[in-house]
Amino acid sequence: MSTPEQLGSLNTPQRKAVTFGEALPGGKGFRAGPLLIVAGAGTGKTNTLAHRVAHLAMSGVDPARILMLTFTRRAAIEMKRRANEIMRTALNDQLGGKASQLSQRLTWSGTFHSIGNRLLRHYAKHVGLDPSFSVLDRSDAADLLDTVRTELGLSGKGQRFPRKDTCLGIYSYRVNTQKSLKDTLDSQYPWCVSHEEDIAKLLRAYVERKSQYRVLDFDDLLLYWHAMMGEERIAKSVSQLFDHVLVDEYQDTNKLQGDILQALKPDGAGVTVVGDDAQAIYSFRAAAVENILGFPDRFRPKAEVITLAQNYRSSQSVLDASNALMADAPRQYRKHLLSMRGQGPRPKLVTVDDLPTQAEFIATRVLASREAGIPLRRQAVLFRTGSHSDMLEIELAKRNIPFVKYGGLQFLEAAHVKDLLAVLRWADNPRNQVAAFRVLQFMPGMGPANARRALDHFVSKNYLWAGFETFEAPGDAKVAWKKFVELFSALGDPNREWRGQINMVREWYRPHMERLYEHVHMRIGDLDQLELLSSQYPTRERFVTELTLDPPQATGAQSSGAHQDEEYLVLSTIHSAKGMEWDQVYVLNVVEGSFPNEFAAGKPEQIEEERRLLYVAMTRARNELTCVVPLRFQITSPRSTDGHVYGARSRFMTEKVIKCFDEQTFQGSNTEVKIAESAADSGTIDVASRLKQMW
Ligand code: ATP
Ligand code: MG
Repeated sequence: MSTPEQLGSLNTPQRKAVTFGEALPGGKGFRAGPLLIVAGAGTGKTNTLAHRVAHLAMSGVDPARILMLTFTRRAAIEMKRRANEIMRTALNDQLGGKASQLSQRLTWSGTFHSIGNRLLRHYAKHVGLDPSFSVLDRSDAADLLDTVRTELGLSGKGQRFPRKDTCLGIYSYRVNTQKSLKDTLDSQYPWCVSHEEDIAKLLRAYVERKSQYRVLDFDDLLLYWHAMMGEERIAKSVSQLFDHVLVDEYQDTNKLQGDILQALKPDGAGVTVVGDDAQAIYSFRAAAVENILGFPDRFRPKAEVITLAQNYRSSQSVLDASNALMADAPRQYRKHLLSMRGQGPRPKLVTVDDLPTQAEFIATRVLASREAGIPLRRQAVLFRTGSHSDMLEIELAKRNIPFVKYGGLQFLEAAHVKDLLAVLRWADNPRNQVAAFRVLQFMPGMGPANARRALDHFVSKNYLWAGFETFEAPGDAKVAWKKFVELFSALGDPNREWRGQINMVREWYRPHMERLYEHVHMRIGDLDQLELLSSQYPTRERFVTELTLDPPQATGAQSSGAHQDEEYLVLSTIHSAKGMEWDQVYVLNVVEGSFPNEFAAGKPEQIEEERRLLYVAMTRARNELTCVVPLRFQITSPRSTDGHVYGARSRFMTEKVIKCFDEQTFQGSNTEVKIAESAADSGTIDVASRLKQMW
């Protein structure tokens, strides 16, 4: 049972949410109906959820029977940490005491995809899956689609046939929304409508190929889980694993996830979901804000709804700006955020000339704030798109400011990292031909044709690693081939311990890496990090899958050093900054083309999502918020001839919003040179229209 001290830190509605339901007599658990906590940013939703987990555990619910669904793995880890902390305080516990015993049993916490992965492996044979299936990351999935497309002769149909990423997007949208292909094309990909038949053919072949290779893509994890929950017997068995199911960031779940949750607990028993419809920012990945809006009505009797009004995160000045931004947005649950933390300094709107000056400004301010006692890790720079921090990263490197970047896939996209993972993936699932094809071609003399030949041979030997011994490798590959066969017979031994496997793979891979790539030294650093990470996972399968599902933050010279001294600036896309908070937040490129994004400028609902994105960014700030407006902003649009457009301030910065900011300009150290350059290279500037655009 929770102690009064522990609950005492909560406000009344938070406490009501934490204790909602009733403890069963004799410490036998806790019974509760469905509960929705819907509230604005920083009102303590995640905190309340962590308290509820602790409360349940301390009321006798076995933590191993609590399912916690979060948006990222990072959030899952954080939630466990918070729950542990709360229990420790409540039980007045030392390390190793009851609290940590309880939190060690909180094993079912993760994203929908990662929990789906675990359940599917467990129930694999009931749903016709091989339990050693591999999970394809998005780029591998797109490549596989591409191969299938070429085989079907669809690539030759001229350039108008949708590209591989588009095809994958279509697949994903259709799967996650459960809409028909026709509806998907009509609403999201109208320019592809005329290809409907060929797309259907392609996707059918893609599905068959995945099944042949024993691979699932991200969306399949949910799709299979969903299908599994449609079978009454299995659904019952899965449901019985959990007494309580708690979901954070519920506003960004999609239809499939909503349906899975409902199938897990049809009467809503033990279900708690929390979210903020004003922070729904994933509709481009088919998230359905209706899930949260319609949640209460999914049940009879209806779910209990608790709202939280007080904001514990930000100063009132930050909230005034955020409230003003959302005032014009059409929404269902209206909230007005009220700070518990006092007025605080007014946010700043800083105009700079161009992107290098923006980078210089950020670096200068970040260092000044550190001098003033705000550590780097309490400061964050947020941006709309991963590439928006490019210039800043160079500037930070120049000044030796360590940073970690969230939200890019760079680490896993690096060829050498993908190579190493491909070896592990293939070892894990011999039928994974996507990985196999990649690995075979590391060896000298092994091009696509020989790799194909080797694979056909392997298939004829029933996917037994020993079968490779009798393969006639081309002359150049003879020596390498022997080592390859040795490696895979070692990795393929089911009794081999996971510890040490990466090291073995690295030794084998190193000469190939040195032959194939430049800058080997840097790459070795990445592989070191990969090896370090691997020790946190109990098995090879968990390692490769979890890494694929939720890639770690980007690495590189800066961030690997950053981990050691724990003093680093955070760079993050806004999408990856959900749920987080920092003392100081800088938002880059608050201009048209970025807010809203140039690609989102079509439909009104897309524009609204862009507004919410800016809202998420602003509400990450505890004390100081700085939005930067570069006047010369580079975008990829073909409309601009020199790659620059003269930026108009974001349309979301209306007069009402700007009133909440102090306006400033920052002159870079190089201003004169830059003015001369820009005058020389940019031809005539339409000053009048630029000025008009600003208002
Ligand atoms: P978001 O919408 O951004 O996910 P949230 O509603 O989940 O935000 P939390 O992250 O749980 O909010 O809480 C925001 C901050 O407020 C955290 O620093 C948290 O520790 C603090 N906080 C929450 N509730 C209380 C409370 N009752 N007393 C003191 N601090 C609190
Ligand atoms: Mg939260």
